[in-house]
Amino acid sequence: MSAERAAIALGSNLGDRERVLGRAREAIGRLPGTRVVGASRVEETEPLGPVPQGPYLNQMLLVETALEPRELLEALLAVEREEGRARSERWGPRTLDCDIVLFGERSITEAGLTVPHPELPHRGFWQRELAELNVRLPVA
Ligand code: AMP
Repeated sequence: MSAERAAIALGSNLGDRERVLGRAREAIGRLPGTRVVGASRVEETEPLGPVPQGPYLNQMLLVETALEPRELLEALLAVEREEGRARSERWGPRTLDCDIVLFGERSITEAGLTVPHPELPHRGFWQRELAELNVRLPVA
């Protein structure tokens, strides 16, 4: 199996955030041809953007995956939906956000998929988490 390393950022600000992240890690580890090879510390961050909301718990995962980037994205969106559905009545639909931050050395600009993630230069906590996992940042 030819696998590539990808960095996936998890974020949760609704519900039992620790458990949401834990279930996301498990679900990602169960994706076909995919295993989790690293996880940063869980870090709490203040929400970005104009919408008032509670603080996030964030964590960066490092995976080895045989999936193509688009397949990985679709799978992550399914994991997000699963988590949203499980909690939708009580907590609303956005309990989990999964972003592909890096995918090997690839540079991708397609409709609905940009890698490295365009927010990487603006998110110090992603950069810290990647450094913790010994992942070098792409040169801008
Ligand atoms: P958001 O709800 O703000 O996280 O945006 C989710 C949408 O961003 C997804 O439906 C993707 O199509 C799109 N997207 C573009 N690039 C990426 C990426 N690198 N990782 C995750 N989602 C991405």
